[in-house]
Amino acid sequence: MNCVFCKIMSGEIPSYTIYEDDLIKIFLDINPDTNGHLLIVPKKHILDLNEMDDSTLIHIMKMAQKHRLILEEKLKIDGLTLIQNNGMIQEVKHFHLHLKPYYKDKQPLKDPKEIYEILKSLD
Ligand code: 5GP
Ligand code: ZN
Repeated sequence: MNCVFCKIMSGEIPSYTIYEDDLIKIFLDINPDTNGHLLIVPKKHILDLNEMDDSTLIHIMKMAQKHRLILEEKLKIDGLTLIQNNGMIQEVKHFHLHLKPYYKDKQPLKDPKEIYEILKSLD
């Protein structure tokens, strides 16, 4: 299947992955709106919100809660917006939840590698 996120899951396309388990991967968006813009993506090819099963949905939201705290701690974010596009406005046709950090003082966009290293750093 010619799906960019399935290729990220298999490793065919590289990504700055900050977390992974049996169900999901969390990686940096290639075209971030703000520093630390993350995507939470199920490993299975699931189209959109209405195709999702309950347990994966709950797991994704629990991981959003956890990574909000990580973004607060490591990147000092001041807010977080969750977005999940469906239908015509969904560019990549494989379910994903955007976690978009908000900073009260506008920040220049950093190199994703730098953000990745901050997020992966130990406390
Ligand atoms: P949506 O489908 O919700 O409109 O957004 C798709 C998102 O996936 C966009 O924010 C886009 O930057 C991101 N994206 C598309 N292709 C890639 C890729 O190859 N790698 C990564 N990390 N993100 C991607
Ligand atoms: Zn896919």
